[in-house]
Amino acid sequence: MLIMQNATSGTSVGKALISARGISKAFGKVEVLHGVSLDVHAGQVVCVIGPSGSGKTTLLRCMALLESPSKGEVVFNDTVIADAAGSRAASQAARAIRPEIGLVFQHFNLWPHMTVLGNVIEAPMRVRGLPRAEATTKAMALLEKVGMADKADRYPARLSGGQQQRVAIARALAMNPSVIMFDEATSALDPELRQEVLQVMRQLAQEGMTMLVVTHEMGFARSVGDRLVFMDQGRIVEDTDPESFFTAPSSDRAVRFLRQIQ
Ligand code: ADP
Repeated sequence: MLIMQNATSGTSVGKALISARGISKAFGKVEVLHGVSLDVHAGQVVCVIGPSGSGKTTLLRCMALLESPSKGEVVFNDTVIADAAGSRAASQAARAIRPEIGLVFQHFNLWPHMTVLGNVIEAPMRVRGLPRAEATTKAMALLEKVGMADKADRYPARLSGGQQQRVAIARALAMNPSVIMFDEATSALDPELRQEVLQVMRQLAQEGMTMLVVTHEMGFARSVGDRLVFMDQGRIVEDTDPESFFTAPSSDRAVRFLRQIQ
């Protein structure tokens, strides 16, 4: 799909693959997201950054259908997949669309009682109904891609954090998702292990994977992201191209944030 970037606002013209439309989210009486709208277009890498507690993870979890919005809706290819009312139509659509959304979490979340290969073939067999042989062939190709084919028979406990996260990425890819969402995928890793995971993410981006990436990795956001979304206090404060954000942020809040992390 041809994406045109609007140079001033960073918003993209054309149809979005997945969108948050006016999403608010309250936990109890406390609203932590206040009417957030975000479009992710096919083939785009959208990086979400901001101070701790600004609502990045909550936004991602709403778009990934792991939290229900208190207001607003999530739309996938023109179909509402989550709304504040929890309507039957949205719930039905969500069931169909959920496998299209790949997820990679901070804490890997591999099944400890399954081997690396077992982790990657489980969902394609159970959810997509793939025969074991087919699922295995595909899984081995994906493990090759993330550099983990030689560890296919190992259990997660015997792998480093970086290796586990690469398996988690292969597991997400095994479902042929339309979009992969990364929630601070490198935050739990030692610096030397982060690079191997970032390298896999960089490769996916180069291959045209649609990605929503909540991250503290400013280098990645700057060099790989197509768009940079800066959040503060439950709102999107800037949605722009990464280079403009890092060289000339337009909000005082972003200026302060960048100063703090430098
Ligand atoms: P970020 O990812 O930017 O660090 P989060 O989305 O994790 O921010 O959190 C935003 C706010 O929502 C924080 O104040 C956090 O404490 C609160 N919050 C997140 N999840 C929950 C929850 N399940 N219950 C109550 N409060 C939550």
